Amino acid sequence: MSLKTVDLDKKHVWHPFTQAQTAPDPIAIQSAQGVELFTEDGKTVLDCISSWWTNLYGHTNPVISEAIYAQSQKLEHVIFAGFTHQPAAELSQKLAGLLPGGLNRVFFSDNGSTCVEVALKIAYQYQQNIGRGHATRFLAFDGGYHGDTFGAMAAGCGSGFFSQWQDLFFSVDQVPYPETWWDDEGVEAKEDACLAHLTSMIEHSYGPASLGSTYCAMILEPLVQGASGMRMVRPAFLKKLVDLLKSHKILVIFDEVMTGFGRTGDLFACLKADVEPDMICLSKGLTAGFLPMSVTVCQDYLYDAFLAPEFDKSFIHGHSFTANPLGCAAALAGLELLQATAPDRARIEATHQQKLADIDWPDQVVHRRLAGTIAALDLSVADSGYRSDVGGRLKKYYWENGLLIRPLGNVVYLLPPYCITEDQLQTAWAGLAEGIQTVCASQ
Ligand SMILES: *Cc1c(COP(=O)(O)O)cnc(C)c1O
Repeated sequence: MSLKTVDLDKKHVWHPFTQAQTAPDPIAIQSAQGVELFTEDGKTVLDCISSWWTNLYGHTNPVISEAIYAQSQKLEHVIFAGFTHQPAAELSQKLAGLLPGGLNRVFFSDNGSTCVEVALKIAYQYQQNIGRGHATRFLAFDGGYHGDTFGAMAAGCGSGFFSQWQDLFFSVDQVPYPETWWDDEGVEAKEDACLAHLTSMIEHSYGPASLGSTYCAMILEPLVQGASGMRMVRPAFLKKLVDLLKSHKILVIFDEVMTGFGRTGDLFACLKADVEPDMICLSKGLTAGFLPMSVTVCQDYLYDAFLAPEFDKSFIHGHSFTANPLGCAAALAGLELLQATAPDRARIEATHQQKLADIDWPDQVVHRRLAGTIAALDLSVADSGYRSDVGGRLKKYYWENGLLIRPLGNVVYLLPPYCITEDQLQTAWAGLAEGIQTVCASQ
Protein backbone atom coordinates (compact mmCIF):
# COMPACT_ATOMS: atom_id res chain seq x y z
CA MET A 1 0.00 0.00 0.00
CA SER A 2 1.34 3.43 -0.80
CA LEU A 3 2.09 5.74 2.09
CA LYS A 4 -0.03 8.75 2.91
CA THR A 5 1.45 12.17 2.15
CA VAL A 6 2.22 12.89 5.78
CA ASP A 7 3.93 9.53 6.32
CA LEU A 8 6.02 9.95 3.20
CA ASP A 9 6.86 13.47 4.27
CA LYS A 10 7.90 12.36 7.74
CA LYS A 11 10.30 9.86 6.21
CA HIS A 12 11.99 12.24 3.77
CA VAL A 13 11.26 15.95 4.19
CA TRP A 14 13.09 18.50 6.34
CA HIS A 15 10.83 21.50 7.09
CA PRO A 16 11.76 25.17 7.60
CA PHE A 17 11.72 26.74 11.09
CA THR A 18 10.61 23.45 12.63
CA GLN A 19 11.87 21.35 15.54
CA ALA A 20 10.66 18.05 14.11
CA GLN A 21 11.08 16.19 17.39
CA THR A 22 8.46 18.26 19.18
CA ALA A 23 6.38 19.80 16.37
CA PRO A 24 2.97 18.36 15.49
CA ASP A 25 2.79 16.47 12.16
CA PRO A 26 2.70 18.71 9.10
CA ILE A 27 -0.76 19.17 7.60
CA ALA A 28 -1.23 18.02 4.01
CA ILE A 29 -3.01 20.63 1.90
CA GLN A 30 -4.64 19.14 -1.18
CA SER A 31 -5.87 22.25 -2.91
CA ALA A 32 -6.82 25.86 -2.36
CA GLN A 33 -9.05 28.52 -3.81
CA GLY A 34 -9.37 32.19 -2.94
CA VAL A 35 -8.77 32.48 0.80
CA GLU A 36 -9.62 28.82 1.48
CA LEU A 37 -7.21 25.93 1.98
CA PHE A 38 -8.53 22.36 1.70
CA THR A 39 -6.70 19.65 3.63
CA GLU A 40 -6.33 16.06 2.47
CA ASP A 41 -8.57 14.94 5.28
CA GLY A 42 -11.43 17.15 4.19
CA LYS A 43 -11.07 20.26 6.36
CA THR A 44 -11.52 23.81 5.04
CA VAL A 45 -9.43 26.57 6.59
CA LEU A 46 -9.24 30.34 6.01
CA ASP A 47 -5.76 31.54 5.14
CA CYS A 48 -5.59 34.74 7.22
CA ILE A 49 -1.83 35.26 6.74
CA SER A 50 -1.65 34.99 2.95
CA SER A 51 0.57 31.88 3.22
CA TRP A 52 3.58 33.61 4.74
CA TRP A 53 2.60 36.99 3.29
CA THR A 54 2.97 35.95 -0.34
CA ASN A 55 -0.58 35.65 -1.64
CA LEU A 56 -2.38 38.84 -2.66
CA TYR A 57 -5.25 37.89 -4.98
CA GLY A 58 -6.27 34.49 -3.69
CA HIS A 59 -4.97 30.96 -4.14
CA THR A 60 -5.14 29.43 -7.64
CA ASN A 61 -6.36 32.76 -9.02
CA PRO A 62 -7.28 31.85 -12.63
CA VAL A 63 -5.88 35.09 -14.12
CA ILE A 64 -2.43 34.32 -12.73
CA SER A 65 -2.45 30.60 -13.46
CA GLU A 66 -3.55 31.18 -17.05
CA ALA A 67 -0.80 33.76 -17.57
CA ILE A 68 1.79 31.26 -16.32
CA TYR A 69 0.37 28.49 -18.50
CA ALA A 70 0.34 30.66 -21.63
CA GLN A 71 3.92 31.80 -21.00
CA SER A 72 5.07 28.21 -20.39
CA GLN A 73 3.96 27.29 -23.90
CA LYS A 74 5.95 30.13 -25.44
CA LEU A 75 9.19 30.40 -23.46
CA GLU A 76 9.71 28.73 -20.10
CA HIS A 77 13.23 29.97 -19.46
CA VAL A 78 16.34 31.32 -21.10
CA ILE A 79 19.77 32.40 -19.88
CA PHE A 80 19.59 36.10 -18.90
CA ALA A 81 23.22 37.12 -19.39
CA GLY A 82 23.38 38.44 -22.93
CA PHE A 83 19.70 37.61 -23.58
CA THR A 84 16.38 39.17 -22.69
CA HIS A 85 12.69 38.59 -23.25
CA GLN A 86 9.50 40.54 -23.43
CA PRO A 87 8.03 39.62 -19.99
CA ALA A 88 11.20 40.77 -18.16
CA ALA A 89 11.51 44.00 -20.14
CA GLU A 90 7.84 44.85 -19.76
CA LEU A 91 7.78 44.00 -16.05
CA SER A 92 10.83 46.23 -15.45
CA GLN A 93 9.15 49.12 -17.25
CA LYS A 94 5.94 48.66 -15.24
CA LEU A 95 7.75 48.49 -11.89
CA ALA A 96 9.75 51.60 -12.74
CA GLY A 97 6.48 53.33 -13.55
CA LEU A 98 4.97 52.46 -10.16
CA LEU A 99 8.01 53.29 -8.03
CA PRO A 100 9.02 56.87 -7.25
CA GLY A 101 11.51 59.01 -9.14
CA GLY A 102 14.71 57.46 -10.39
CA LEU A 103 14.03 53.90 -9.22
CA ASN A 104 14.23 52.66 -12.78
CA ARG A 105 16.78 49.87 -12.95
CA VAL A 106 15.68 46.32 -12.14
CA PHE A 107 18.01 43.48 -11.11
CA PHE A 108 16.23 40.10 -10.95
CA SER A 109 16.84 37.29 -8.47
CA ASP A 110 14.93 34.43 -6.87
CA ASN A 111 13.54 35.24 -3.42
CA GLY A 112 13.47 37.77 -0.62
CA SER A 113 16.86 36.82 0.77
CA THR A 114 18.66 37.01 -2.56
CA CYS A 115 17.23 40.41 -3.51
CA VAL A 116 18.61 41.64 -0.18
CA GLU A 117 22.02 40.08 -0.92
CA VAL A 118 22.00 41.85 -4.26
CA ALA A 119 21.19 45.20 -2.64
CA LEU A 120 23.95 44.82 -0.03
CA LYS A 121 26.50 43.82 -2.67
CA ILE A 122 25.52 46.64 -5.02
CA ALA A 123 25.77 49.17 -2.16
CA TYR A 124 29.21 47.96 -1.14
CA GLN A 125 30.59 47.92 -4.67
CA TYR A 126 28.95 51.23 -5.58
CA GLN A 127 30.94 52.98 -2.87
CA GLN A 128 34.15 51.46 -4.28
CA ASN A 129 33.24 52.35 -7.84
CA ILE A 130 32.74 56.03 -6.97
CA GLY A 131 35.93 56.27 -4.93
CA ARG A 132 34.39 55.95 -1.47
CA GLY A 133 35.95 52.56 -0.80
CA HIS A 134 36.32 53.44 2.88
CA ALA A 135 32.53 53.26 3.28
CA THR A 136 32.24 49.57 4.14
CA ARG A 137 29.99 49.29 7.18
CA PHE A 138 26.25 48.69 7.33
CA LEU A 139 23.46 49.93 9.56
CA ALA A 140 20.21 48.13 10.36
CA PHE A 141 17.38 48.36 12.86
CA ASP A 142 17.24 46.30 15.94
CA GLY A 143 14.55 43.68 15.21
CA GLY A 144 14.98 43.91 11.43
CA TYR A 145 14.64 40.69 9.45
CA HIS A 146 15.93 40.39 5.90
CA GLY A 147 16.11 36.67 5.11
CA ASP A 148 18.18 33.60 5.88
CA THR A 149 21.22 33.74 3.59
CA PHE A 150 24.48 35.02 5.08
CA GLY A 151 24.38 38.67 4.12
CA ALA A 152 20.68 38.87 4.92
CA MET A 153 21.31 37.18 8.28
CA ALA A 154 24.10 39.63 9.08
CA ALA A 155 21.78 42.52 8.22
CA GLY A 156 19.07 40.93 10.36
CA CYS A 157 21.32 39.99 13.27
CA GLY A 158 19.10 42.14 15.52
CA SER A 159 16.15 39.81 14.90
CA GLY A 160 17.51 37.27 17.39
CA PHE A 161 17.13 34.28 15.05
CA PHE A 162 20.73 33.73 14.02
CA SER A 163 23.00 33.46 17.07
CA GLN A 164 24.37 30.07 15.87
CA TRP A 165 26.14 31.73 12.93
CA GLN A 166 26.98 35.16 14.24
CA ASP A 167 30.75 34.60 14.34
CA LEU A 168 30.63 34.38 10.54
CA PHE A 169 28.80 37.68 9.94
CA PHE A 170 30.26 40.95 8.66
CA SER A 171 29.58 43.65 11.18
CA VAL A 172 26.29 45.50 11.04
CA ASP A 173 25.61 48.24 13.60
CA GLN A 174 22.18 48.15 15.23
CA VAL A 175 20.01 51.23 15.55
CA PRO A 176 17.24 51.25 18.20
CA TYR A 177 13.80 50.91 16.58
CA PRO A 178 11.09 53.36 17.73
CA GLU A 179 8.15 50.97 17.37
CA THR A 180 4.77 52.43 18.16
CA TRP A 181 1.08 51.55 18.57
CA TRP A 182 -2.28 53.19 19.26
CA ASP A 183 -2.30 55.73 22.10
CA ASP A 184 1.46 55.57 22.48
CA GLU A 185 2.37 58.71 24.37
CA GLY A 186 6.08 57.98 24.24
CA VAL A 187 6.38 57.84 20.46
CA GLU A 188 7.99 61.21 19.88
CA ALA A 189 10.57 60.67 22.60
CA LYS A 190 11.45 57.27 21.11
CA GLU A 191 11.80 58.68 17.61
CA ASP A 192 13.93 61.60 18.78
CA ALA A 193 16.14 59.27 20.81
CA CYS A 194 16.58 57.00 17.79
CA LEU A 195 17.55 59.86 15.47
CA ALA A 196 19.91 61.34 18.08
CA HIS A 197 21.54 57.95 18.61
CA LEU A 198 21.92 57.41 14.87
CA THR A 199 23.37 60.89 14.39
CA SER A 200 25.98 60.18 17.02
CA MET A 201 26.82 56.78 15.48
CA ILE A 202 27.28 58.43 12.09
CA GLU A 203 29.43 61.24 13.50
CA HIS A 204 31.66 58.71 15.22
CA SER A 205 31.93 56.78 11.96
CA TYR A 206 33.69 59.59 10.15
CA GLY A 207 37.06 58.63 8.78
CA PRO A 208 39.71 61.22 7.91
CA ALA A 209 37.80 64.51 7.53
CA SER A 210 37.75 64.62 3.76
CA LEU A 211 36.41 61.09 3.36
CA GLY A 212 33.08 61.23 5.19
CA SER A 213 31.20 58.48 7.01
CA THR A 214 32.47 54.93 6.85
CA TYR A 215 28.90 53.70 6.66
CA CYS A 216 28.01 52.37 3.25
CA ALA A 217 24.26 51.81 3.60
CA MET A 218 21.36 51.27 5.97
CA ILE A 219 18.86 48.50 5.27
CA LEU A 220 15.39 48.55 6.81
CA GLU A 221 11.85 47.28 6.50
CA PRO A 222 9.90 50.51 6.02
CA LEU A 223 6.82 51.15 8.21
CA VAL A 224 6.41 47.54 9.40
CA GLN A 225 8.99 45.03 10.62
CA GLY A 226 7.37 41.70 9.74
CA ALA A 227 9.12 38.69 11.25
CA SER A 228 10.02 40.34 14.53
CA GLY A 229 6.33 40.91 15.26
CA MET A 230 4.60 43.39 12.92
CA ARG A 231 6.39 46.26 14.67
CA MET A 232 5.35 49.61 13.20
CA VAL A 233 6.76 53.13 12.94
CA ARG A 234 5.16 56.35 11.75
CA PRO A 235 5.62 57.51 8.14
CA ALA A 236 6.89 60.93 9.28
CA PHE A 237 9.70 59.26 11.24
CA LEU A 238 10.80 57.41 8.13
CA LYS A 239 11.10 60.66 6.24
CA LYS A 240 13.38 62.18 8.90
CA LEU A 241 15.48 59.04 8.95
CA VAL A 242 15.97 58.99 5.20
CA ASP A 243 16.88 62.70 5.13
CA LEU A 244 19.48 62.13 7.84
CA LEU A 245 21.08 59.17 6.04
CA LYS A 246 21.12 60.93 2.68
CA SER A 247 22.74 64.04 4.16
CA HIS A 248 25.70 61.79 5.06
CA LYS A 249 25.77 59.99 1.68
CA ILE A 250 24.72 56.73 3.31
CA LEU A 251 22.67 54.65 0.88
CA VAL A 252 19.12 53.75 1.91
CA ILE A 253 17.89 50.24 1.10
CA PHE A 254 14.19 49.58 1.64
CA ASP A 255 13.39 45.92 2.13
CA GLU A 256 9.77 45.94 0.94
CA VAL A 257 9.67 42.17 0.48
CA MET A 258 6.63 42.06 2.76
CA THR A 259 5.31 45.67 2.61
CA GLY A 260 5.27 45.94 -1.20
CA PHE A 261 2.24 45.82 -3.51
CA GLY A 262 -0.41 47.44 -1.36
CA ARG A 263 0.13 45.81 2.02
CA THR A 264 0.46 49.03 4.02
CA GLY A 265 -2.37 50.81 2.19
CA ASP A 266 -0.39 52.60 -0.52
CA LEU A 267 1.19 50.55 -3.29
CA PHE A 268 4.56 50.70 -1.53
CA ALA A 269 5.59 51.83 1.95
CA CYS A 270 8.01 54.32 0.37
CA LEU A 271 5.05 56.02 -1.33
CA LYS A 272 3.07 56.09 1.90
CA ALA A 273 6.00 57.72 3.71
CA ASP A 274 6.76 59.94 0.72
CA VAL A 275 10.45 59.00 0.56
CA GLU A 276 12.69 57.77 -2.21
CA PRO A 277 15.20 55.09 -1.20
CA ASP A 278 18.32 54.34 -3.27
CA MET A 279 17.22 50.73 -3.67
CA ILE A 280 14.07 48.75 -3.02
CA CYS A 281 13.82 44.97 -2.57
CA LEU A 282 10.60 43.25 -3.66
CA SER A 283 9.49 39.61 -3.57
CA LYS A 284 6.63 37.68 -1.85
CA GLY A 285 3.60 39.40 -3.47
CA LEU A 286 5.61 40.24 -6.60
CA THR A 287 4.41 37.10 -8.38
CA ALA A 288 0.99 37.16 -6.66
CA GLY A 289 2.37 34.40 -4.43
CA PHE A 290 2.67 31.86 -7.27
CA LEU A 291 6.39 31.56 -7.98
CA PRO A 292 9.68 32.42 -6.27
CA MET A 293 11.10 35.57 -7.81
CA SER A 294 12.41 38.90 -6.59
CA VAL A 295 13.80 42.18 -7.82
CA THR A 296 16.18 44.80 -6.49
CA VAL A 297 15.18 48.09 -8.09
CA CYS A 298 17.95 50.71 -8.16
CA GLN A 299 18.22 54.41 -8.81
CA ASP A 300 19.66 55.29 -12.21
CA TYR A 301 22.80 56.79 -10.63
CA LEU A 302 23.66 53.46 -8.99
CA TYR A 303 23.47 51.68 -12.33
CA ASP A 304 25.54 54.40 -14.01
CA ALA A 305 28.33 53.97 -11.45
CA PHE A 306 28.86 50.42 -12.71
CA LEU A 307 29.42 51.53 -16.33
CA ALA A 308 33.11 51.48 -17.30
CA PRO A 309 35.44 49.89 -19.81
CA GLU A 310 36.60 47.36 -17.18
CA PHE A 311 34.64 44.16 -16.57
CA ASP A 312 35.51 44.31 -12.87
CA LYS A 313 33.49 47.49 -12.40
CA SER A 314 30.35 45.60 -13.44
CA PHE A 315 28.09 43.79 -11.00
CA ILE A 316 29.33 40.21 -11.13
CA HIS A 317 26.32 38.41 -9.75
CA GLY A 318 23.55 36.24 -11.19
CA HIS A 319 21.40 33.16 -10.68
CA SER A 320 20.48 30.30 -13.00
CA PHE A 321 16.85 31.37 -12.98
CA THR A 322 17.40 35.12 -13.15
CA ALA A 323 14.28 36.80 -14.62
CA ASN A 324 12.49 33.51 -15.18
CA PRO A 325 9.79 34.21 -17.80
CA LEU A 326 7.09 32.30 -15.90
CA GLY A 327 7.73 34.40 -12.80
CA CYS A 328 7.67 37.57 -14.91
CA ALA A 329 4.38 36.52 -16.53
CA ALA A 330 2.85 35.90 -13.08
CA ALA A 331 4.11 39.30 -11.90
CA LEU A 332 2.71 41.11 -14.94
CA ALA A 333 -0.68 39.46 -14.47
CA GLY A 334 -0.53 40.37 -10.77
CA LEU A 335 0.12 44.03 -11.55
CA GLU A 336 -2.97 44.02 -13.76
CA LEU A 337 -5.02 42.91 -10.74
CA LEU A 338 -3.29 45.17 -8.22
CA GLN A 339 -4.81 48.50 -9.21
CA ALA A 340 -8.35 47.15 -8.89
CA THR A 341 -7.72 45.97 -5.31
CA ALA A 342 -7.71 49.51 -3.85
CA PRO A 343 -11.36 49.34 -2.66
CA ASP A 344 -10.79 45.90 -1.09
CA ARG A 345 -7.65 47.10 0.67
CA ALA A 346 -9.54 50.11 2.02
CA ARG A 347 -12.40 47.89 3.18
CA ILE A 348 -10.01 45.49 4.96
CA GLU A 349 -8.30 48.42 6.69
CA ALA A 350 -11.64 49.86 7.82
CA THR A 351 -12.77 46.53 9.28
CA HIS A 352 -9.38 46.03 10.98
CA GLN A 353 -9.68 49.50 12.49
CA GLN A 354 -13.17 48.91 13.77
CA LYS A 355 -12.46 45.45 15.23
CA LEU A 356 -9.26 46.53 16.95
CA ALA A 357 -11.16 49.45 18.50
CA ASP A 358 -14.52 47.85 19.32
CA ILE A 359 -13.88 44.31 20.48
CA ASP A 360 -13.97 43.99 24.26
CA TRP A 361 -10.37 42.81 24.59
CA PRO A 362 -9.07 41.23 27.79
CA ASP A 363 -6.54 43.27 29.80
CA GLN A 364 -3.64 41.21 28.46
CA VAL A 365 -4.16 42.73 25.00
CA VAL A 366 -1.78 45.66 24.51
CA HIS A 367 -0.16 47.66 21.68
CA ARG A 368 -3.01 47.46 19.15
CA ARG A 369 -1.76 48.74 15.80
CA LEU A 370 -2.64 48.93 12.13
CA ALA A 371 -0.93 49.64 8.81
CA GLY A 372 -3.15 49.16 5.78
CA THR A 373 -4.17 45.50 5.55
CA ILE A 374 -1.97 44.50 8.51
CA ALA A 375 -3.56 44.51 11.98
CA ALA A 376 -1.61 43.39 15.05
CA LEU A 377 -1.69 43.31 18.83
CA ASP A 378 0.53 41.93 21.60
CA LEU A 379 -0.45 39.68 24.46
CA SER A 380 1.22 40.78 27.60
CA VAL A 381 2.53 37.47 28.98
CA ALA A 382 5.52 36.54 31.12
CA ASP A 383 7.47 34.87 28.29
CA SER A 384 7.08 37.40 25.48
CA GLY A 385 9.06 37.06 22.24
CA TYR A 386 9.06 34.71 19.25
CA ARG A 387 9.47 31.59 21.39
CA SER A 388 6.58 32.49 23.69
CA ASP A 389 4.44 29.47 24.50
CA VAL A 390 1.17 31.35 24.09
CA GLY A 391 1.74 31.57 20.32
CA GLY A 392 1.77 27.80 19.92
CA ARG A 393 -1.41 27.40 21.97
CA LEU A 394 -3.21 30.05 19.96
CA LYS A 395 -2.07 28.60 16.65
CA LYS A 396 -3.54 25.24 17.64
CA TYR A 397 -6.82 26.84 18.77
CA TYR A 398 -7.14 28.78 15.52
CA TRP A 399 -6.44 25.76 13.34
CA GLU A 400 -9.00 23.67 15.18
CA ASN A 401 -11.47 26.49 14.54
CA GLY A 402 -10.82 26.69 10.81
CA LEU A 403 -8.35 29.57 10.72
CA LEU A 404 -4.75 29.73 9.58
CA ILE A 405 -3.47 32.41 11.97
CA ARG A 406 0.14 31.99 13.03
CA PRO A 407 1.12 34.27 15.93
CA LEU A 408 4.72 35.46 16.05
CA GLY A 409 5.24 34.45 19.67
CA ASN A 410 2.97 36.70 21.71
CA VAL A 411 2.10 38.87 18.68
CA VAL A 412 -1.23 38.05 17.02
CA TYR A 413 -1.90 39.54 13.58
CA LEU A 414 -4.04 39.32 10.47
CA LEU A 415 -2.57 39.82 7.00
CA PRO A 416 -5.16 38.40 4.61
CA PRO A 417 -5.23 38.14 0.80
CA TYR A 418 -6.99 41.20 -0.64
CA CYS A 419 -9.79 39.02 -2.04
CA ILE A 420 -11.01 38.06 1.44
CA THR A 421 -14.75 38.73 1.56
CA GLU A 422 -16.31 40.81 4.31
CA ASP A 423 -17.97 37.67 5.74
CA GLN A 424 -14.67 35.82 5.81
CA LEU A 425 -12.95 38.77 7.46
CA GLN A 426 -15.66 38.98 10.12
CA THR A 427 -15.21 35.23 10.74
CA ALA A 428 -11.46 35.72 11.06
CA TRP A 429 -11.82 38.52 13.62
CA ALA A 430 -14.45 36.65 15.64
CA GLY A 431 -12.20 33.58 15.79
CA LEU A 432 -9.09 35.63 16.54
CA ALA A 433 -10.79 37.31 19.50
CA GLU A 434 -12.29 34.05 20.83
CA GLY A 435 -8.88 32.41 20.75
CA ILE A 436 -7.37 35.24 22.75
CA GLN A 437 -10.22 35.22 25.26
CA THR A 438 -9.92 31.44 25.69
CA VAL A 439 -6.16 31.47 26.12
CA CYS A 440 -6.17 34.50 28.43
CA ALA A 441 -8.91 32.93 30.60
CA SER A 442 -6.70 29.87 31.14
CA GLN A 443 -3.53 31.85 32.01
C1 LIG B 1 10.26 37.11 4.04
C2 LIG B 1 11.19 38.26 4.06
C3 LIG B 1 12.49 38.16 3.54
C4 LIG B 1 13.06 36.88 3.03
O1 LIG B 1 12.39 36.40 1.92
P1 LIG B 1 12.54 34.87 1.50
O2 LIG B 1 11.82 34.78 0.20
O3 LIG B 1 11.90 34.08 2.58
O4 LIG B 1 13.99 34.58 1.37
C5 LIG B 1 13.27 39.30 3.53
N1 LIG B 1 12.81 40.46 4.00
C6 LIG B 1 11.57 40.59 4.52
C7 LIG B 1 11.11 41.92 5.01
C8 LIG B 1 10.72 39.50 4.58
O5 LIG B 1 9.50 39.61 5.11
